[in-house]
Amino acid sequence: MTQNVLDRYQRTMTNMFGTPSRALVKGEGVYVWDADGNRYTDFLAGIAVNALGHAHPALVEALTQQATTLGHISNLFTSLPQVALAERLTELAGTADGACFFANSGTEANEAAFKLARRYGHSTGGKRHKIIALENAFHGRTMGALALTWKQQYREPFEPLPGGVTFVAAGDFAALDAEVDDTVAAVIIEPVQGEAGVRNFPDGYLQQVRQACDEYGALLIFDEIQSGIGRTGTWFAFQNPAITGSDEPIVPDAMTLAKGLGGGMPIGALLTFGREVSELFTAGQHGTTFGGNPLATATALAVLDTIEHDGLLENVSAVGDYLATSLRALPGIKMVRAYGLWQGIELDTEALAQQGQSLPEGGLAPKVVSKALEYGYIINATGELTLRLAPPLIITKDQVEPLLRDLPNIIADAVADAN
Ligand SMILES: *Cc1c(COP(=O)(O)O)cnc(C)c1O
Repeated sequence: MTQNVLDRYQRTMTNMFGTPSRALVKGEGVYVWDADGNRYTDFLAGIAVNALGHAHPALVEALTQQATTLGHISNLFTSLPQVALAERLTELAGTADGACFFANSGTEANEAAFKLARRYGHSTGGKRHKIIALENAFHGRTMGALALTWKQQYREPFEPLPGGVTFVAAGDFAALDAEVDDTVAAVIIEPVQGEAGVRNFPDGYLQQVRQACDEYGALLIFDEIQSGIGRTGTWFAFQNPAITGSDEPIVPDAMTLAKGLGGGMPIGALLTFGREVSELFTAGQHGTTFGGNPLATATALAVLDTIEHDGLLENVSAVGDYLATSLRALPGIKMVRAYGLWQGIELDTEALAQQGQSLPEGGLAPKVVSKALEYGYIINATGELTLRLAPPLIITKDQVEPLLRDLPNIIADAVADAN
């Protein structure tokens, strides 16, 4: 069955993603099933998207209710869930006079942020024409977001990209400080870099960046597309002391959201903080047909309600700590960078080298990922030696236990295959 679907896939789908590893047919809670009936525990959640896991009753109920009431209306009109979601997000972000723009994806949220930065540049007489982004940053695949994305292999096939973007070394404040002056419209940063392997910055870095932006009047934009909506144990990473190094949140001028927000429904958001930044866009300057439609916003509201009512932020912290502590004690693992249920795992190759074992071609981590599938786990690799876990926020200690038991064998099998 799976083979049949994959064959048809290859005949009819653009080869954008390589060959998918499985065809999935069903999901429930933290589990999904493939077309051959095999069950997998989902430690990736559709890349940090399925915050409530699969087919969560609250999400199904909200979506069904909305679909049977009012599905799509265009932005010539508004709807109750759209306004309620904007109120809810600004409240959770702690800005009384902020504003939301809704899109359909992360990259679109960042396109809006890019245009916000340009608007800001124009509003200051056009002298602010620079945007600073970080090395190893990932902000999306459309042309604007791609211009902010570091990886050469993503960018080069599509050049020329929108200009004015300067990259500086990630986590190196002196390097950033050397570029920030009054020609800079905005600095865009993921508070923890997700696609780079869940990588944080040195203590105090984000605070220093905030201060430099204040000093030179540049906007600070946080891309919280992966880190937001409870992923790290707080609503947003900018509120997480383990990430900011401060009990006070490091409040950005704008923030982008997507992934976890819709719990699987496509939605993105640009949230601006304070009146001045929130008034940079005027009517007609940007737009979207689908963005913020009743289906997506009603579902997102259900995600936020469920996170709150079910105490999922506490669950993220508790299960996240347990998972990280347990992983650190396993053989074959060198280091775990853990922020709630968002973890980057560095595999240990020193012991392997000492035993004279060679590493699989293409990297050990991708091999561990495919071995894990055979064992019934969905995990992810962000590099040759780096694994990423981003399970649903509802996952329990009992549900992470089997992976902890099997992971050493999975790694050993992946190594054995290469030797
Ligand atoms: C996934 C991601 C994006 C892009 O979101 P899409 O919905 O895939 O367009 C942008 N920024 C960050 C930090 C992301 O993790």
